[in-house]
Amino acid sequence: MAKRDFYEVLGVAKNASEEEIKKAYRKLAMKHHPDRNPDSKTAEGKFKEVKEAYEMLSDAQKRDAYDRYGHAGVDPNMGGGGGAGAGGFGDAFGDIFGDIFGSGARGGRGAGPQVYRGADLRYNLEITLEQAAHGFDTTIRVPSWDTCDTCHGSGAKAGTAPATCSTCGGHGQVRMQQGFFSIQQTCPKCHGTGKTITDPCPPCGGAGKIKRNKTLEVKIPAGIDDGMRIRSSGNGEPGTNGGPSGDLYVEVHIKQHAVFQRDGDDLHCEIPISFTKAALGGDIEVPTLSGKASFSIPEGTQSGKTFRLRSKGIKGVRSGYAGDLFCHVVIETPVKLTEAQKASLREFERLTSEGGAKHSPQSKSWMDKVKGFFE
Ligand SMILES: [Zn+2]
Ligand SMILES: [Zn+2]
Repeated sequence: MAKRDFYEVLGVAKNASEEEIKKAYRKLAMKHHPDRNPDSKTAEGKFKEVKEAYEMLSDAQKRDAYDRYGHAGVDPNMGGGGGAGAGGFGDAFGDIFGDIFGSGARGGRGAGPQVYRGADLRYNLEITLEQAAHGFDTTIRVPSWDTCDTCHGSGAKAGTAPATCSTCGGHGQVRMQQGFFSIQQTCPKCHGTGKTITDPCPPCGGAGKIKRNKTLEVKIPAGIDDGMRIRSSGNGEPGTNGGPSGDLYVEVHIKQHAVFQRDGDDLHCEIPISFTKAALGGDIEVPTLSGKASFSIPEGTQSGKTFRLRSKGIKGVRSGYAGDLFCHVVIETPVKLTEAQKASLREFERLTSEGGAKHSPQSKSWMDKVKGFFE
């Protein structure tokens, strides 16, 4: 079958403007639209032809190729008829008519109930830092819907049956007149099911399904971080009219820890030490998420000094490598001293001041700056 010239199909001149092409297309698309000619094969064929011609001529690049080389310039399957998008309602058609039809229409175009996927659900799960570090298995209770055993899903009271919807006559779709265009919409009365329930089943209130809780097992992988989500496929809300269920997302929230702050796979903690220990140096024992660890601090350790313990952090859920533990040393000033202790400190002070600035270089340098400031 020879292909007709695109300009001829749209009934426009070779030098037609974009506006003229669009106008001609609109007119012909309305005339041959399958909704206006439900049983006509000819109209369907014409509609496709018009659509294809418009797709080519409304695209400057394709139009240029067509003007130069004819069908061979734009259609790799020349002679195959139909071309890309035949039978579909997307692309060029959607550009112009999308607003009328609404882009959210789902399910088949024919009569019958509309099928919708169920909504996704989110479950917030609070866990401890230890649980996050090591991973664990837990069970959660989530809402779930079962077919009502009383009405077996029909939603009608025992002894009654759902009636055919009077608005759509059971099709689940209604035709609406918009201008001189007839369009299909989901029936507003029965929401696409095609049935109405006059005597609802008491246990389910006519919904045909009953909410129950179900227990799900959730595996929390080691190393999971705050805000990460685990998907449980198909455990969201059920779909409508046989549509698939949504998914359940378990979102993890990690409780604040008494000792550690987490930063990615690293851990941080503050370690108070006495000033004598800081001055003399020695071993320090610290907690980690997997038992105790120890390290030595050198003589003369200053407050705020950080010690890094490699691989004592959290093993990353994605990386598989353990982070580090950073210990921030804080020197604690002794409090509630006895007279004897105070006396010994005064003696200590006397002895160190004899040594001058060498025991406290920071204080010395600070004093020098302050002196310069007042002079
Ligand atoms: Zn019921
Ligand atoms: Zn209806």
